[in-house]
Formats: sequence, structure tokens, C-alpha cells
Amino acid sequence: MKGPVPAEGAADTSWLRRTAELSRLCPPSDTAFSVGAVVVAADGTVLGEGYSRRDDPRDHAEEAALRGVDPDDPRLAGATLYSSLEPCSSRSSRPRSCSALVLSTPVPRVVFAWREPAVFVDCDGAERLRAAGRTVVERPDLADAAREANAHLLRGPGACGGAQPPRVG
Ligand SMILES: [Zn+2]
Repeated sequence: MKGPVPAEGAADTSWLRRTAELSRLCPPSDTAFSVGAVVVAADGTVLGEGYSRRDDPRDHAEEAALRGVDPDDPRLAGATLYSSLEPCSSRSSRPRSCSALVLSTPVPRVVFAWREPAVFVDCDGAERLRAAGRTVVERPDLADAAREANAHLLRGPGACGGAQPPRVG
């Protein structure tokens, strides 16, 4: 499978839209985000795709996407990892966070839509990746699509599913 050559602008937009599509395939959860991720080579070839809980209830999207990629694939050195959500920097379910996982690959560029909100854990994945010399691009203009599959996790306290806001007046 092939798509646009990863680059800022329209190509990044198109790949992030794909991650939002993938996030809608996640088995539902009330305790973890639904996220989609795609690893794309410099020529636009998809090296791997994944989404949360794909193969295991503890799966994060980025690790599911990287699982199918040969770690020695030379194309990783020019690839971009797209994720609908900022790669995590700490997690309870597995010892290695997704940002650590990305740092164990040569992938030089990470693009995500939605900065992780402090619902479960505080995340500084973007900062860690930048500090390690990776290019990190944030596209908050596409965060709405990434949030869609997680709307049930983001309601404020007391706001039950389907409840309407009280009428005023
Ligand atoms: Zn993660």
C-alpha cells in the first residue's frame, strides 16, 4: 500500500486522517485511549499500521504498527511515524513507553494530531522525542478527528453518556 510522500502540509494531513480511521477500529475501552498509527517510508510506502488493543488488550497503536516492521528494515531510517495521539512517555500496562519504542528505532520523524490530555497519566512523549533529536510535528488542527473515538473518556465528572446540558432560562 502506498500514499503520499510524507511531508508537512497536505501529505501529513492525509496520513493523520488515516490514523483517525484506524482509531475507530479499536476494541472499546473505558480505561485507555483509542489511537491509530501508521509507519510510512520516505517514498510513501506503508511499512506498518496499528491501533490500540489490536492484538492484545494492552496494545498501544504505535507498538502494534511497529510490531509488523522488520527492525532492520533500512527504510525505517527515512520513515515517518504518524499517530492520532502523542506517543506516551510512561504507561502502566507495559515496561516500554511508545516514545521509548520509537527511540529504539531509527525513525527520524513523528507526526501526531492530539497532544495527550492528562486523563490517565501525564505525557511528555513529544518532548522526549525532540530531546533525542527526532523531528516532532504536532497538528492540533486535526485533533478533533483523533478525539472522536475517545469522546466517552473526555466527559467531565457528572456528565453521563448522552446527557444533555441543562437548559438555561
Ligand atoms: Zn503508548
